[in-house]
Amino acid sequence: MLKEMEVISASMERAVFNIFPAYCKGCGLCTEKCPNNTLKWSDKLGAYGTPTVIPRDEDSCIACMICAMVCPDCAIVIERKKRTK
Ligand code: SF4
Ligand code: SF4
Repeated sequence: MLKEMEVISASMERAVFNIFPAYCKGCGLCTEKCPNNTLKWSDKLGAYGTPTVIPRDEDSCIACMICAMVCPDCAIVIERKKRTK
C-alpha cells in the first residue's frame, strides 16, 4: 500500500504555501531567491536531515512562485488565491 506523502501547508493572504519535506534537501535556493524574504528555516527536517523551509511573514508573499520554480527537487507547490478585492 502506498504511504501518503507528508505535506506542510501555510495559508497566506495571496497563496497557500505547500512543502513536501521528503523532497527538500535544505539547499536554501528558495530562501535566497524569494524577492520578499518570506521564507525561513523550519524545525521540520527534510530528505537529508537538514531543515526545510516555511513562510516567516505570510503577508509578504506575493505568490510569484519563484520559490517553487527554483527548487531543484520540486518540494514546493504554491497555490495562488483568487483576489476578492
Ligand atoms: S511565492 Fe514568491 S513571494 Fe511567495 S514565498 Fe515563494 S518566492 Fe517568496
Ligand atoms: S529550494 Fe527546495 S530543496 Fe532547496 S531548501 Fe528550498 S524547498 Fe528545500
